[in-house]
Amino acid sequence: MSQTHEPATFTTENPATLARGKSYPAHAADEAAGKVGAAADAQRGWRRTAIAERSEAMKKAAQVLRLRRAEFAALMTDEMGKTVTDGLAEVDKCATACEHFADHAAGDLARESVAIEGADAFVTFNPLGVVLAVMPWNFPFWQVFRFAAPALMAGNGAILKHASNVPGCALAIESVFRDAGFLDGLFGTVLVRSAAVQALIEDERIAAVTLTGSVAAGRSVAAIAGGALKKCVLELGGSDAYLVLEDADIALAGKVCAAARMVNAGQSCIAGKRFVVVRQVRRAFEEALVDAMRGYEPGDPRDPATRLGPLQSVAARDQVHAQVEASVRGGARLLLGGVVPSMPGAWYPATVLTDVRAGQPAHDDEVFGPVAAVIEARDEADAIAIANASPFGLGSGVLTRDLRRGERIAAEELDAGLSFVNDNVRSDPRMPFGGVKQSGFGRECAAYGIREFVNIKSVQVKHAPAG
Ligand code: NAP
Repeated sequence: MSQTHEPATFTTENPATLARGKSYPAHAADEAAGKVGAAADAQRGWRRTAIAERSEAMKKAAQVLRLRRAEFAALMTDEMGKTVTDGLAEVDKCATACEHFADHAAGDLARESVAIEGADAFVTFNPLGVVLAVMPWNFPFWQVFRFAAPALMAGNGAILKHASNVPGCALAIESVFRDAGFLDGLFGTVLVRSAAVQALIEDERIAAVTLTGSVAAGRSVAAIAGGALKKCVLELGGSDAYLVLEDADIALAGKVCAAARMVNAGQSCIAGKRFVVVRQVRRAFEEALVDAMRGYEPGDPRDPATRLGPLQSVAARDQVHAQVEASVRGGARLLLGGVVPSMPGAWYPATVLTDVRAGQPAHDDEVFGPVAAVIEARDEADAIAIANASPFGLGSGVLTRDLRRGERIAAEELDAGLSFVNDNVRSDPRMPFGGVKQSGFGRECAAYGIREFVNIKSVQVKHAPAG
């Protein structure tokens, strides 16, 4: 777990102002290993607790979240620029997820009997042990809770290695579980750099790993987990396509697509990124989309009225702008935005590109910012082909007045883990969440998520011989 040449502290920077924030000392290798040991010790007791007892603790965690929601939302604003309105909603969603898994774990993990002659046979779902979670900054609370609530309810322990720019959030999450009365150390945060992840995965007390983040990080973690023969779940990037068909309600399509694109200032894996429009409604859709995107004026993220805050860092903003510029050089046209404001901070305006084609970054790559790409299609079949011609397969949408047509395309045609008709894709603890292709593998949320980190065990008890 060597951290040679790495700074010994994590110092935050407010992306809205570039003001220096707090510094947090990094955990040395032996401290991180100590946290893994504490989680393993606590998990040995936790796995034997009744699910009702775990539910009680998880409901307490929901209460702590609700009680401290303003504090946590402000922390997210300071560390990664999320608007306060989005931050409050995110904390509330975490509380709801804790309650969901507290209420459903018993059913999701109940023994399943199997009819086998001459024996009592059943499947049982036992915890794996301590799960390592490598998490991103974009939804600093939600990404962690949607992993942690089901994993802990299943009887596992957890070690969180959060993104380097949100150390305050990482420690705050640890404090939620502590304040809720979970066994000491069962959920531990380690403040370490990504170079320390390999040693954590290879630690024999870590049973499995889940990563939410970029394709590059996913590839690295999957390779290490593969080498150590440990289960891994990957939630990676996306370049979600929304199909706007010729029979769509165009005003609604403009609003849905803008909302899909602008979630979290465009910094969401399931943000709509490519808007594939059938030729005959292209002009009308462009107008509706630009109109809706204009409603996202950049502003102080602490103001409850603000809909667009800064991006997470100036480096991230510069990357988004470089992708826009390269797309324009490749033939795309700007309909809105695309100019870096001359003020300090990681600001970028709501931007719409049209004439987007293969070969341009807005078409081929994930653009992690408030940039909508309009791509023209000849007809439904062409639109589906364009949507599916992506290395990613996370979310997708269909806009049409014909609900049966939308349902068919969503259910059968789009290569994605989630497909919504006439609405923007959102995660929900009641529905499985995850992707195909380079968007990753495994699922979070719902019964599918809670069963990722369990030993699905077959048990048979042979009947005693008669007499
Ligand atoms: P990132 O660089 O991959 O970082 C995510 C996490 O992985 C951080 O904790 C990071 O630590 C760590 N990490 C980075 N490289 C690593 C490596 N080689 N080995 C081990 N750990 C490593 O991701 P990001 O760019 O900050 O986040 C945005 C990406 O996440 C986008 O692609 C987005 O689509 C994806 N995402 C996916 C989902 C989903 O559910 N599918 C949800 C949200 C985001 P450091 O911060 O210390 O580098």
